[in-house]
Amino acid sequence: MKEQGFFGELQLSKKILSAITDMGFEEPSPIQSKTIPVALEGKDLIGQAQTGTGKTAAFGIPMMERLVDSRHIQALVLTPTRELAIQVAEELAKIGKFKKVKVLPIYGGQPIERQIRALKLGVQVIIGTPGRLLDHMRRKTIRLDFVNQVIIDEADEMLDMGFIEDVENILENISTDRQTMLFSATMPKEILALSEKYMKDPVSITTSKEQITVPLIDQVYYESRDKLDGLCRVLDAETTGQCIIFGRTKKGVNDLTASLQARGYMADGLHGDLSQSQRDRVMKKFRDGDLEILVATDVAARGLDIEHITHVINYDIPQDPESYVHRIGRTGRAGKRGVAITFIEPREFRQLKLIEKIVKTRILRKQLPTLTDIME
Ligand code: ADP
Ligand code: MG
Repeated sequence: MKEQGFFGELQLSKKILSAITDMGFEEPSPIQSKTIPVALEGKDLIGQAQTGTGKTAAFGIPMMERLVDSRHIQALVLTPTRELAIQVAEELAKIGKFKKVKVLPIYGGQPIERQIRALKLGVQVIIGTPGRLLDHMRRKTIRLDFVNQVIIDEADEMLDMGFIEDVENILENISTDRQTMLFSATMPKEILALSEKYMKDPVSITTSKEQITVPLIDQVYYESRDKLDGLCRVLDAETTGQCIIFGRTKKGVNDLTASLQARGYMADGLHGDLSQSQRDRVMKKFRDGDLEILVATDVAARGLDIEHITHVINYDIPQDPESYVHRIGRTGRAGKRGVAITFIEPREFRQLKLIEKIVKTRILRKQLPTLTDIME
């Protein structure tokens, strides 16, 4: 830990340093101590680090530092989902609070008129999802002429969600006289191609040699023919704080939420078919600790950073191994321990083996708790 140093050694201004202190950050994470000096020089960079390692502040701190006192939009952060846009906006606002930086998230689902009004008041940093941003660009309600910093956050998720073309479209409409930073937990070849096309001699920063590692998360699986019964036993037996349960489909999420609610669990669902206000309401309840169990599809839960998640439960095993990494990355964040539980049906054993290969960890088999375990 020693060689990471302190934020005080990173040539940051007083205003930014005080904000970081207020956020409770004591020392930079590895990706932060490597990224911040490079980014402060204005260089393009590609940052790869596992989830929960502080990538937001890794770009947010130098970005805020480099903003000048002007009311134009100077920095643009692209994120794959609306929840993530809101979350990143909140963290950036905290970093920029003493510099009085105006930050605005722009995402689909919120009335565009409200965003247009907010934009008119003058904004320096936009955090946007690609679709809504393009919408504003077409309507000319956003001017990106003065943008000189662009950050592509969670680039691999952008790819998974089919947003790469939109991202390219946006990048092509921003002056090439800019700094571009790209962050991702994994580096598929499409992302490397994107960086080659749109970045200038990017400095590559990684914090682990392993492609993916998830060290602080205990990973176990249960084999169960009756998954609902198995899930309820686990929920009853383990002292869980808040947990996220992943289902494969929207219908699956709705059904599971209803089943849990009917059994008296404090659960609510999150998926792409809900209205924005419904999604916001569920997320607020979960963030405020008024909801114990969030049942969600992959898309709805991407990149979420919620402090007290102790358990991630894969009610349905993810279709691709990388999605497993993203899912379980919702726990064990910022150095805290977490538990990842996966339910498999007997025929899904091969998928589990594939996942083990990717995470380079053995996922341990556990026996379902018996009634006596639950009573204890
Ligand atoms: P990533 O984007 O790499 O998945 P985040 O940027 O969402 O990770 O950060 C994960 C959590 O760690 C957040 O709650 C963030 O506020 C916290 N965090 C970031 N940097 C530090 C730090 N240097 N010290 C303590 N906590 C930090
Ligand atoms: Mg992130």
